[in-house]
Amino acid sequence: MTLLELEDVTAFYESVQVLDGVSLSVPDQGAVGILGANGAGKTTTLRAISGTVRTGGRIVFDGKDIRGMRPDQVAALGIAHVPEGRGTLGDLTVRDNLRVGAYLRKDRKAVDTDIEYCLDLFPNLQDRITSNASALSGGEQQMLAVARGIMSKPRLLLLDEASLGLAPSTARNVYDAIHRLRTESGIAMLVVEQNANLAFTLVDSATVLETGRNVLTGTSAELRGMDEIRRAYLGG
Ligand code: ATP
Repeated sequence: MTLLELEDVTAFYESVQVLDGVSLSVPDQGAVGILGANGAGKTTTLRAISGTVRTGGRIVFDGKDIRGMRPDQVAALGIAHVPEGRGTLGDLTVRDNLRVGAYLRKDRKAVDTDIEYCLDLFPNLQDRITSNASALSGGEQQMLAVARGIMSKPRLLLLDEASLGLAPSTARNVYDAIHRLRTESGIAMLVVEQNANLAFTLVDSATVLETGRNVLTGTSAELRGMDEIRRAYLGG
């Protein structure tokens, strides 16, 4: 079953059009990548879904047309956006950031269980549970951003550049944990990544954007085997 479908989506900042007909679909419990160079429109595609940019076209989540909904309405339907730059709340502790992620939930007991799950998934956070988020390393902040997304118990996670600015081994750790999350939770994922090699460890398929349109879509195995993908995104 398809969980999320974008059909011919356009997006605008003021009067400037930056998406020019993006289409993609994410199966229920599936993971799909969005690849492309700087400025191709990857982040804007995630913003189009979470309702933070003006859009045209069709955006259907779980059978419902969500295009034009407010960000809080989209979140309430079960879409969690982990933004580029992480967006953790620096003045709050790790534990409070996790609680904030769960603010829409009523099942308080399950919230505590899920906090424990996040700490098991990201043991570094366990050691920093009473630290303010602003005191964390870049890798720990990224882990916290993902964990906060999980705390809303989403059906779909939008992940923007989870590896950005991290040392290669830290980026691997973060992706390994997200992979484990995927296997254990069945949360569907739409993943923006500049590092295609890393993305392919997680996603089953991907689409490549160029100046706001899809130029290639395929399974991870297909895309990995293509010379133009190798040259542009895999370093040779
Ligand atoms: P990056 O990896 O650099 O974030 P991206 O593929 O995610 O690249 P977007 O951030 O979606 O690309 O940007 C797409 C285009 O929209 C770019 O030309 C960018 O300059 C422009 N853009 C992004 N944000 C805004 C904004 N707030 N106002 C105006 N133009 C913007």
